Amino acid sequence: MQLTRRQFLKISTGTVGTIVVTEMVDLGLNTTAVQAQALSIPIKTGKQVPSICPYCAVGCGQIVTVSDTGKIIDIQGNPDSPINQGTLCPKGAATYQLVTNDLRWTKVKYRAPGSDHWEDQTLDWAMNRITELVKQTRDANFNETQDVPDGKGGTVTKRVMNTYAIASLGGATMDNEWNYTHQKLMHALGVVYLENQARI
Ligand code: SF4
Repeated sequence: MQLTRRQFLKISTGTVGTIVVTEMVDLGLNTTAVQAQALSIPIKTGKQVPSICPYCAVGCGQIVTVSDTGKIIDIQGNPDSPINQGTLCPKGAATYQLVTNDLRWTKVKYRAPGSDHWEDQTLDWAMNRITELVKQTRDANFNETQDVPDGKGGTVTKRVMNTYAIASLGGATMDNEWNYTHQKLMHALGVVYLENQARI
């Protein structure tokens, strides 16, 4: 019989659990509480979807389990990922709570200049506001030319078409295609401070 990597890990994990409980019994320890705890863990079934942890540049693989109604019911490390091999750090292990959290804010919070309170705004409103401010900042700080060293101790005027007033920092959740499109947009605006923490 051929085993997949995931089947092997599942069997190994189950075997280790059995050995630990058996050895505790051999040592004369009462394992009732341990066994009760093991039995109370619900077995989550549903469609398993491979994904990537959204938090950091390591890019650990995850398996998102989804119910028939499309609800996320579990997120675990993906044993098939060569990066994390089924493990997740505490932050990645808490990803489930990112999507299932009653305290999560789902509206844009805006506090106007000089105001002492926050207002709820729509995502469309926020997008339009960001666009206005980017345009305004770029127009007010755009450099068509710049004096740069000429290599002989003097300067020479070059056409640069850039702005130093805007910077862009991407995150690990941006995939290759998104980063490609994003750098196209930033370069078209003349942004030169362009970085991504995922080092891609
Ligand atoms: S699980 Fe932890 S180390 Fe892995 S990508 Fe997520 S935050 Fe980074």
